[in-house]
Amino acid sequence: MAGKEYLTGCFVGSHFVDTRDALAVEDKFRLKALASVSVATPDVAERALSLAASYQPTAGYRRAEILRRVRDRLAARREAFRDLLVAEAGFPLRDAEGEVARAIETLALSAEEAKRIGGEVVPFDGAPGGAGRMGFTMRVPVGVVVAITPFNAPLNTVCHKIGPAFAAGNAVILKPSEKTPLVANLLASLFAEAGCPPGGLAVLHGGPPVAEALLADQRPGFYAFTGSTAAGASIHAKAGLRRTQMELGSIAGTIIMADADLDMAIPKCVGASFRKAGQVCTSIQMLLVERSVYDEVRERYVDGVGRLVAGDPAEAGTDVGPMISVAAAERVEGMLGGETVLTGGAREGAVLSPTVIERPADDSRALTEEIFGPVACLVPIEDLEEAISRINGTLYGLATGLFTSDIDTAFAAARRLRVGGVHINETSSSRVDLMPYGGVKASGFGHEGPKYAVREMSEERLITFSGLSG
Ligand code: NAD
Repeated sequence: MAGKEYLTGCFVGSHFVDTRDALAVEDKFRLKALASVSVATPDVAERALSLAASYQPTAGYRRAEILRRVRDRLAARREAFRDLLVAEAGFPLRDAEGEVARAIETLALSAEEAKRIGGEVVPFDGAPGGAGRMGFTMRVPVGVVVAITPFNAPLNTVCHKIGPAFAAGNAVILKPSEKTPLVANLLASLFAEAGCPPGGLAVLHGGPPVAEALLADQRPGFYAFTGSTAAGASIHAKAGLRRTQMELGSIAGTIIMADADLDMAIPKCVGASFRKAGQVCTSIQMLLVERSVYDEVRERYVDGVGRLVAGDPAEAGTDVGPMISVAAAERVEGMLGGETVLTGGAREGAVLSPTVIERPADDSRALTEEIFGPVACLVPIEDLEEAISRINGTLYGLATGLFTSDIDTAFAAARRLRVGGVHINETSSSRVDLMPYGGVKASGFGHEGPKYAVREMSEERLITFSGLSG
């Protein structure tokens, strides 16, 4: 992006369209204007909706080809995407590179799924009323999928929505976060280059009112959302009988048992609390450590966190960059009460230094509300029982990590933790893009992971045959 020629229009009909309403996008570390993006007006939204509603998908192998071409183009321009993520989202170089690499993989996985959308033969003669009949199921697109996405994974989350939705034969209208619209446009330009038909993808910019207009229209059949629990609840209510995928908030926990391999566990936990300045829904908010190893873990973990470098995300040595805004950093700062701060706690602009607090009160904001910032709470626990009750006691249920060398402990946790994913000898933040990924309770429902999302973003239709001779 040497000349800083950002794509700033809404993407409709394979073209970028300017409108009269503008949205300012700033560099999240330098706090300077980057670009002004066009907000979708009602006529632009109507054009996107009517193109999407009349979209006819091409064959699965052609959709796979288009997704593979997008993937190849993204791989060829990875530095441009990385640099844009550094500026627009404030991600340190390493986090930005990681996000681009994962988005490349997510598109590759989506391309593969486009070729294997099948159904099953129904064994009708297994029940008396079915004798002499035959039948099979097939999966058909839901039609128009609306994707509403957050700022904290502005490329890979977008690929997790667009990739499977397009693979399944749907038209997609993306409403990306108003805080990170530029990277969505750069991705959309690759879809145009890759031969995506004009109705296949639209990107409409703006805040909640643009999403609400897309909810009020009856043409979309599916809403794929990642973001806060409050916004998800509102979107789900407005979707009515239309289906939704809800990837929402979390208070993610990771447990270190006394029998764990601490040399493996501690570095993984340091890494998993502060990526993207802790603005990751599975970022470790509660680190629960069995009492007999608590002092050792505290010392080594706090030492590791204390070595993380906070500051300019464009510099190679930076581990922790700014939060998405000064207001977001102030919000997190305001959540810290009278807890013991073991390291960090200082704020400069949008950069909050990596912070570890010890034993917050059970009813403190730090243990009862999603922090979504570079703060981890270190809490000693008596046993697995206490860890399970602390995790199950939150409103949320996204993912939990557990470090142990005991298989019974691992199975007990797997059976009893009420979360979408339990990762043994990994942190709550562990994710490979092919796996089913989703939460329960206030963390939502439905699954990302292209194989699983393709199922959700398509409808199962049954075809039966009777009266066949022979
Ligand atoms: P957000 O909910 O403020 O915004 C997300 C998107 O929803 C944006 O595009 C926004 O414009 C839109 N939006 C906001 N309010 C809306 C409303 N009332 N109606 C319709 N659309 C609305 O979230 P954010 O601040 O961008 O992201 C942070 C949140 O996302 C955190 O709570 C985090 O846990 C969650 N998140 C969850 C996952 C997951 O997989 N479970 C992943 C990433 C982020």
